[in-house]
Amino acid sequence: MIIILLGPPGSGKGTQAAFIQKKLSIPHLSTGDILRKSIKDGTELGNTVEKIMANGELVSDKIILNVIKGRVMQDDCKSGFILDGYPRNVKQAESLNLILKEVNKEINKIILLDVNFDSLKTRIANRSKENTDEIRADDTSEVLIKRLKEYKNQTAPLEIYYSNNINFNKINGMDSISNVSHNIKKFLDIAN
Ligand code: AMP
Repeated sequence: MIIILLGPPGSGKGTQAAFIQKKLSIPHLSTGDILRKSIKDGTELGNTVEKIMANGELVSDKIILNVIKGRVMQDDCKSGFILDGYPRNVKQAESLNLILKEVNKEINKIILLDVNFDSLKTRIANRSKENTDEIRADDTSEVLIKRLKEYKNQTAPLEIYYSNNINFNKINGMDSISNVSHNIKKFLDIAN
């Protein structure tokens, strides 16, 4: 099963992707995590994207295409995967269709975690307090505003792009974590 998880920064995508990964035993592919790891490892990719990410801007479609293409071709993605943080704009969504066509696969479910923008700042501020492992260089309020702007301008149009797809569903991300997981489980037809 190939699942796309959409939603603004702080909407709980990472938490819910981890939940789905556990339930379906398919890998959670977060382009943000892959890029952060490349920065930590000091790779060429990491050096290229470090400043862009710290500024809350989007990395170029070309770079991201290489990252995601390499990842979905790996063996552990054979029976499916969860995409978190990709696609981030319509161009990336179109590239994704082409990648999947090449390997004779298609998107099975698209979930949008719908969250009130005003509440996102509080959520992200709390995230840094709750778990020190999750403090990120791009979680400062200034950068966060930039990231939300990027989301509104570039990523939010994906809602319209996917809205005609019968496998698209908007789930209320303002609900409790367990209720959101429950609704995702129902939408994905997971028995328990
Ligand atoms: P995330 O962890 O998904 O919030 O991503 C963190 C940062 O990584 C973003 O603010 C972007 O700079 C970069 N990034 C992650 N995924 C993408 C993508 N699909 N396209 C462009 N930039 C991305």
